[in-house]
Amino acid sequence: MNVRPAALSKGPGCTDAPVLRERGQREVFCGLTGIIWLHRKIQDAFFLVVGSRTCAHLIQSAAGVMIFAEPRFGTAIIDEKDLAGLSDANEELDRIVARLLERRPDIRLLFLVGSCPSEVIKLDLSRAAARLSTAHAPRVRVLNYSGSGIETTFTQGEDACLASLVPTLPAQPADAPRSLLIAGTLAEVVEDQWLRTFDALGIRDVHFLPPRRADRLPPVGPNTVYLLAQPFLTDTARTLEERGAVRLPAPFPLGVEGTTLWLRAAADAFGVDEQTFERVTGPPAARARAAIERHAATLRGKRVFFFPDSQLEIPLARFLARELSMELAEVGTPYLHRQHLAQELALLPQGTALSEGQDVERQLDRARAERPDLVVCGLGLANPLEAEGLTTKWSIELMFTPTQGYEQAADLAELFARPLIRRSKLVA
Ligand code: SF4
Repeated sequence: MNVRPAALSKGPGCTDAPVLRERGQREVFCGLTGIIWLHRKIQDAFFLVVGSRTCAHLIQSAAGVMIFAEPRFGTAIIDEKDLAGLSDANEELDRIVARLLERRPDIRLLFLVGSCPSEVIKLDLSRAAARLSTAHAPRVRVLNYSGSGIETTFTQGEDACLASLVPTLPAQPADAPRSLLIAGTLAEVVEDQWLRTFDALGIRDVHFLPPRRADRLPPVGPNTVYLLAQPFLTDTARTLEERGAVRLPAPFPLGVEGTTLWLRAAADAFGVDEQTFERVTGPPAARARAAIERHAATLRGKRVFFFPDSQLEIPLARFLARELSMELAEVGTPYLHRQHLAQELALLPQGTALSEGQDVERQLDRARAERPDLVVCGLGLANPLEAEGLTTKWSIELMFTPTQGYEQAADLAELFARPLIRRSKLVA
């Protein structure tokens, strides 16, 4: 039997909307995938995956499409001997790390990244990280997190990585003035634009997590307010709050509306007056609205179906529905954090069909029945759906492309318009 997500909601937007919860077979990448964008961000960090040849292939083939000057990740291979418990994986790991750090004196921060195989053999990577941190102190700090497909979906790897970093952040002095922390990996071009915007608003003490270098960790404490730049940072938010930081509730900075409300949350927390806010944000918002309009003709009235993949689905759906007049056939997300997504849900059109988790065959049936104009999904589903005549967009592309903020809003719209234009050319 096909279960459809309930369609009617009470209250504003989708705040109280019922959500179809599915707990069946999933079709998503594991958390190792995050290394592909994280390794480019923290320039003196290295990601050592403690995993199998499959794990090595995953990140090498995925990262192979990216251009990078110096690889900042590698794999310590767990082979059959380790799996059978015939060798001491810890000794082997210590040897590999010592060799790596000798060869690469530029490394300041080393992440041991757990995988399915390291979990299967119950290798305790937090103990290994503590041992290796002591052995290589003070030059290198060693941390660990899990990117295993058993525990994480593809963007949760970033969450686990940043959450492992938070306890190492320096304490903000108790008498320090209020500072703003932006949590979530962003393209440097986006960070630079926002630094200029915050500066124009008079907000000067602004930090980013992750930082560009391990020796520039942002301070955190009860005088820190933070904004999430990504919607998948559940553990990072929790660890920041354990350090006393306070989250500013806001939608996510995708599209003009999301960016304006996100910036406004910061402006309100720092007492920026309305006139200044309008003067700083009005012109770039107007330019972005005009630039988005170029793609409206392609997207207006088209139906889009989101498979759960990146946890970006709800903010993206809000942007496409409200700024490009697209219709939402179904919005699936791997995990719905009601608190972090509260402002987003309130903005979603009433009656949006929402689903959380996945039962891939059932969801494929719903997508086929809907015949949407565009399907946003993972790589594994895109090819079969294209073969069935559906038009798809890979959700992972949204993680590699700068999409946040006013200047990127039209690029974000274009990411959705492009496959529709391609399909219309093929059909013509
Ligand atoms: Fe596959 Fe697990 Fe390795 Fe990810 S961590 S590549 S799911 S074996």
